[in-house]
Amino acid sequence: TETIIQVEEIKKHFRLNKEQTVKSVDDISISIRKGETFGLVGESGSGKSTLGKTIVGLQAPTAGKILYNGKDVSSLTKQEKKDANREIQIIFQDPQASLNPRMRIGDIVAEGMDAHGLAKGKRREERVYQLLERVGLRPDHAKRYPHEFSGGQRQRIGIARALAVEPSFIVADEPISALDVSIQAQVVNLLEDLKEQEDLTYLFIAHDLGMVKHISDRIGVMYLGRMMELADSDALFADPLHPYTQALLTAIPVADPQVKRRERIVIHGDPPSPVDPPSGCRFRTRCPFAMDICAEVTPKWTEVKQNHWASCHLYQQ
Ligand code: SF4
Ligand code: MG
Repeated sequence: TETIIQVEEIKKHFRLNKEQTVKSVDDISISIRKGETFGLVGESGSGKSTLGKTIVGLQAPTAGKILYNGKDVSSLTKQEKKDANREIQIIFQDPQASLNPRMRIGDIVAEGMDAHGLAKGKRREERVYQLLERVGLRPDHAKRYPHEFSGGQRQRIGIARALAVEPSFIVADEPISALDVSIQAQVVNLLEDLKEQEDLTYLFIAHDLGMVKHISDRIGVMYLGRMMELADSDALFADPLHPYTQALLTAIPVADPQVKRRERIVIHGDPPSPVDPPSGCRFRTRCPFAMDICAEVTPKWTEVKQNHWASCHLYQQ
């Protein structure tokens, strides 16, 4: 399969002051395959949103490279950069904050189209109506303002705005986390339908594994700026290798009584600060299996089984 996005040793560090730097994303390499949904999971502060924003170009990486369709995005020509900006879109967590309250829905949906000069006048208007219907809203909604809509509807508006420019790759940054549970499945179904119809590729960011289980082809688990594990969705759930993933999974209620609950791994407290993360393995302060080496040596990113990667000393010789 073709790779659409390749992330090579990306770091994103934020300087707080002379002595302190937040290592929000610290040396991550992943490839996203054309047509897949890549689920990216982590607690708040894991760096998952920062990685997403860096991939779409909203912020420049401190180090490392991002390749889009095989080309380093930092060395694209002006036209290529324009195309990439159109083809790579982001949907935000909070539809409330990402929609300008003073703009009509029609103009919000057309924002990207206007910026890229894609359609004007009657054609623009028709395209907006079409997009609104596409995401389950009505053409006459174009005249209204964001406050007149529910959270789920506002997220649909955000999706229509992203779709308007005919993207090929969408980062969905916790698109359902702020919505009522009853609405979440509807929005996920919409995203899945659109993916099929529009040949999209998704990076779907979420804070828990349950949210990405059914929609993801592969899942990556982040912790304090690092990737802990990466595998096909089924393999990750059937055979989680990393203690952190195991802990996240035991926190999900098991619906099927045939499936035996794994021995419970409880992790205590909040993750440590990414300002001064633990030496060696970043998960060691909460890991029930931590050994001496875990404090001294950073575990290598290793393909433990075919297509199943983890960084943990339990799997290193
Ligand atoms: Fe636990 Fe050590 Fe593995 Fe980190 S490297 S997850 S501390 S066993
Ligand atoms: Mg976030």
